[in-house]
Amino acid sequence: MTVRHMTVQHMTVQHMTVRHRIAEDRSTTVPPTLGAPNTTATRTSRAAVFYGVGLGLRIEDVQVTGPGPREVLIEVAACGACHSDVHKLQGHGTVAAPNIFGHELAGTVRAVGTGVDHVRPGDRVACTFLVPCGECAACRSGAEDNCGPFRTMMQAKGLRYDGTHRYHQLDGTPLRASGVGGLVGLVSLPAGAVFPLPDGWPEAIPLTDVAVLGCAGLTAYGAVNRAAKVRPGANVVVLAAGGVGLCTVALARHAGAGTITVSDIRDESLAAARGFGATGTVHAGDRDFDARVGELAGGAPIDVVFDTIGTPGTVAQALRIVGIGGTVVVSGLAGTGGPGRIEDLNGFVRNKITLVGSYAAVPGEDMPKLLEAVRDGALDPARLISARFPFDRAEDAYGAVAAGTVTGRALIEY
Ligand SMILES: [Zn+2]
Ligand SMILES: [Zn+2]
Repeated sequence: MTVRHMTVQHMTVQHMTVRHRIAEDRSTTVPPTLGAPNTTATRTSRAAVFYGVGLGLRIEDVQVTGPGPREVLIEVAACGACHSDVHKLQGHGTVAAPNIFGHELAGTVRAVGTGVDHVRPGDRVACTFLVPCGECAACRSGAEDNCGPFRTMMQAKGLRYDGTHRYHQLDGTPLRASGVGGLVGLVSLPAGAVFPLPDGWPEAIPLTDVAVLGCAGLTAYGAVNRAAKVRPGANVVVLAAGGVGLCTVALARHAGAGTITVSDIRDESLAAARGFGATGTVHAGDRDFDARVGELAGGAPIDVVFDTIGTPGTVAQALRIVGIGGTVVVSGLAGTGGPGRIEDLNGFVRNKITLVGSYAAVPGEDMPKLLEAVRDGALDPARLISARFPFDRAEDAYGAVAAGTVTGRALIEY
C-alpha cells in the first residue's frame, strides 16, 4: 500500500476543511512505489511560522516532506505552549528565523517510513521533545538523553540529523524546525520520539491533553525518578508550580514521597498543587520561607528540593533549605544563561549536598513508564491545562504564558 492510499483511506471530511488542509502536492517528483512507503511524499499543512522578534507567528501553509526512513508522519492533535518557546519568541533561540518551533505534541499516526514497526497508521501517540537519533554512540549506549545529533543538529541548527529539512515554504524555500518543530498540522518525526498510548488508555483522557506529557511530563519524570530517585517516605520540596512543577508534585506522590511542600508566587498555582498531591504550600514571598518549609515537613530534614525555575536565586534557596545528605535537582532553565554560585560552600561540603542538573529523561525507557503511570491515575493531564487556544491563536497562548496568567500549561489545539 502506498502512502497516498493510506492517506486517503484515513482522511475524513473534517480533515479537509480550509483550517486544516492535508493534500498531496502535485510537485512531488518521485512516483509512489507499490509495496513501499513513498518517503519523499510532500503534503501541504497549516503552520505557525516564527519570522523573528516582533514579527510573531504567521499562520500559513507549508510543505511537509516525509516520512523518511525511521520516521513517523503524525497528524498533530495539540501542542503545549512551553515557556522555553516564549524565550524563542523573544529572540533567545539558537535556530535562525524563519523557523517552526513547538515541541510538546500528541497526535495520530498517518504514515510510517521504512524501519518503523512500533507504531502504525491510526495509532494515537505522544511525542517527546527530546528526539534521540538511535544511532550515535550515546544512543547506542542507552543514554538517548545525551544524543549528540539531536543537540547539535535538531536543537542547535533546526535541521535533521543529516542536515536536511522536512518543511518548505510554498515557493520551495527550506524552512527550519527548532527541535521538534511542532506548530504545524503534520509533523514527520524520527521514530525514537514517538510513543503509542498504552493498552487500556482511559477514554476520559483525550488525545489533545496527552501533549503536555512530552515536555512537562517527561522533564518531571526524569527529575523525580532519575536525578532524585525519590524514595517512599522522602520529604520533598518543589519550587514553582508551573507545568513541570505540577507534574513533579504528582510523580513524587506516585513515587511514594512523604511530605510534598510546594512554593509559588501565585495563589492559583498553590491551589492547583494541592490538587496534584502537595501536602503543604508556602508563598514564595513568605518572609519566614525557610522556617515555614521546615514546619511543613514536620521538622524532618528535606531530602529533595526540585528547582523547576533555575535562577541563581532559586538555586541558592534550594541549597539553603535542603537537609544533610539531601539532593537539589535543577530542572528549570530560566536563569541558566548567567552565572550561579554556591553561597555557603562550607555547608555544601559538610552537609554532603548533591546538586544535579536534570534535563528530560531517557525517552525510550521513561516515556512508556510515564504513559503507563498516567493511565493508572498518577496525574490527570486535563487538570494541568488551564487555558486552551485554537491553532490560529497560537501566539496568544505564548502571550498568556509570558504574562504569567496560566496555571500549569496552555494548550494549542489543531
Ligand atoms: Zn518544553
Ligand atoms: Zn543519538
